[in-house]
Amino acid sequence: MADRDGLIWLDGEMVPWREAKVHVLTHTLHYGMGVFEGVRAYETPKGPAIFRLQDHTKRLFNSAKILGMDMPFSEDELNAAQLAVVKQNNLSSAYLRPMCFYGSEGMGLRADNLKTHVMVAAWEWPSYMGEENLSHGIRINTSSYTRHHVNITMCKAKANGNYMNSMLALQEALRNGYDEALLLDNEGYVAEGSGENIFVITNGELHTPELTSCLDGITRRTIIQFAEDLGITVKERRITRDEIYIADEAFFTGTAAEVMPIRELDGRSIGCGSRGPITEKLQSMYFDQVKGQREEYADWLAVV
Ligand code: PMP
Repeated sequence: MADRDGLIWLDGEMVPWREAKVHVLTHTLHYGMGVFEGVRAYETPKGPAIFRLQDHTKRLFNSAKILGMDMPFSEDELNAAQLAVVKQNNLSSAYLRPMCFYGSEGMGLRADNLKTHVMVAAWEWPSYMGEENLSHGIRINTSSYTRHHVNITMCKAKANGNYMNSMLALQEALRNGYDEALLLDNEGYVAEGSGENIFVITNGELHTPELTSCLDGITRRTIIQFAEDLGITVKERRITRDEIYIADEAFFTGTAAEVMPIRELDGRSIGCGSRGPITEKLQSMYFDQVKGQREEYADWLAVV
């Protein structure tokens, strides 16, 4: 990743990709106290456009606030930086990674002279779990790792350190031959995937866990809006893993994963054992939306 052409926005300036470096004593590298975003830009008839840019930037600022990190830039500046990174790297579609981290100004938990540094990189990143899985669905298993407790890490923050739990769960799932993990909360109820929110469809209704230990996903918000527009009842509530076994359909949502059907959980085939009809409808609305093919919610796209 580090050895390629291109530009990365770092602390207000465009820096050649290979020179966007930090010191080994970078504080966030040691303790995981940092916040980041995952954002996508898609090719649209008006040119490359970033999907729900302002919402992602707002979540980044909220994450920083939760962790008590000072932000040296405004939301407008960070929005402009993300647009500039896509433009100046000549990307027609991209995955963007903004991150705020503490530098090497001090070391140790008591360091009191830390500065927040901000970077934005962007690169081409096609389908996160493979194009074919978008139509056939993925196989997942319930993780042996529990999702964060609301008072251990801060679940509303997309914080770097939170992702050690995601990595452990995902690596276990992949090692066992699955495509993704399903994490339960500390009381045993369904939380989310390692980097996705989860939805199930039963009797034509859409159910998703409430925002307790799962991230307030922007794709989740988008899908809830679409379902409501279609007149589908949406219920945010506690869900058990066996409800998913007997659901008609299930899918994950995330900026990277987009709308990914789930065809199997813990060896039980879900519904028809492939992408279900409501999942297909919501998925196609999603792709039409991000690619600028719908007139509704045009302001969700920030043209580069
Ligand atoms: N949960 C977790 C743990 C995630 O990392 C992500 C990806 N950011 C999501 C859910 C989905 O969030 P979004 O739709 O905003 O990408």
